[in-house]
Amino acid sequence: MTPLKFQPLVVSLAWFASLSLVTAAQSSSLKEIDSVYPEAHQLYLQLHQHPELSGQETQTAAELAARLRGAGYEVTEHVGNTGVVALLKNGAGPTIMLRTELDALPVEEKTGLPYASQVRAKDDAGHDVPVMHACGHDLHMAALLGTAEVMARNRNRWHGTLMLIGQPAEETIGGAEGMLKDGLFTRFPKPDVAVALHVSNGFPAGVMAITPGVYNTNSDSVRITIYGKGGHGAMPQSAIDPIVIAARTILALQTIASREVQPGEMAVVTVGYIHAGTKNNIIPDQAEMGLTIRTRKADVRQHVLDAITRISKAEAAAAGAPREPSVERYEGTDLVYNDPQLAEKLRAPLEIALGKNNVVIGEPIAPSEDFSFFIAQGVPGFYFSLGGADPEKFAAARAQGTGLPSNHSPLFAPDAEPALRTGIVAEVAVLRNLLNTPVEELRKFSATPQP
Ligand SMILES: [Zn+2]
Ligand SMILES: [Zn+2]
Repeated sequence: MTPLKFQPLVVSLAWFASLSLVTAAQSSSLKEIDSVYPEAHQLYLQLHQHPELSGQETQTAAELAARLRGAGYEVTEHVGNTGVVALLKNGAGPTIMLRTELDALPVEEKTGLPYASQVRAKDDAGHDVPVMHACGHDLHMAALLGTAEVMARNRNRWHGTLMLIGQPAEETIGGAEGMLKDGLFTRFPKPDVAVALHVSNGFPAGVMAITPGVYNTNSDSVRITIYGKGGHGAMPQSAIDPIVIAARTILALQTIASREVQPGEMAVVTVGYIHAGTKNNIIPDQAEMGLTIRTRKADVRQHVLDAITRISKAEAAAAGAPREPSVERYEGTDLVYNDPQLAEKLRAPLEIALGKNNVVIGEPIAPSEDFSFFIAQGVPGFYFSLGGADPEKFAAARAQGTGLPSNHSPLFAPDAEPALRTGIVAEVAVLRNLLNTPVEELRKFSATPQP
């Protein structure tokens, strides 16, 4: 994840001690959190040592389902492959969804932690790969379990329906869509608001960040295949070289963000791979490129995608290619949006629960995420950031002008003790607030940016 704007503050655990003094009805007490923390932490360690790849989260899902059933939830498994849905009905009121991801990544853990993963597994292509919870989804699951326990044990403090979901395959973008196709919002109640958080080293543990408005980016994956005419490397006059066309195309694509998009608007066009040729003295007959495109506005997104097609075709035509290139958008996700009014409403309970200095405003980030599929169903979302960095290491890295390892790094290691506790406190505060809000008021929030 990218470094986020960070407001300097003094991080201490002192606020935990002061929680019992907080009188606000929506805040959790130290005792409540203490009573669920050991189980949540134990689950964290267990999941961290047994990560599973996207779409293969069978043991993870079964474990989470069993624990939620034990906490008194009505649990359905295998929703969209390995997805888990847990409901707690507590009278009339809104339905609020909290989501965690289930999956880990093909990364070899190098944190040196005593509970580091040593797992290897077969990926979908049949390759033997190392597996690690390098994105912190284990921490999200542990926080969700702690939150589930607190909410179940204190039902007098909220009303409505709490819907907890364990979503598979976030890292490969497909799990959210899979659950929706399997009836997430038809077989189960459609939520009035959907909530999720993500841990990162962008903030010290103990801190939460809210990003009102657009949180991340629209993401599009595009494959371009350029067709030339193969021949001998020593006789280029008899061939049409797709590698040269690809090279020109790549350079011309750089002018989209720099020359066509209005300065200040966000657009990224990255060519992440180019595959062509087999031998130095052969001109191949085709070249393939893979692109990732990130934008924050619908009109900019459309313009960039159209420009990629226009430039690719024109460069091929300029070289006399025998066929138009194929330009295929094969995957995409929409951005995640936090209605600023909803973000503002939830800021107050978070500040009460965590301390005013521990709730900061975060900048939008570039990585994308398929939580957007839930929002696309017209459900307003609240997606917030959980600090994961060891506060001392974070301060030391900042003093040196560097950062701690990002998500997906083999060295990514959130400081679980304060981060997990903070995650539970924050989720409980947000859920209690939303579950005490009349449905009519929640309906006023919007799921997507207003034109
Ligand atoms: Zn990730
Ligand atoms: Zn993640």
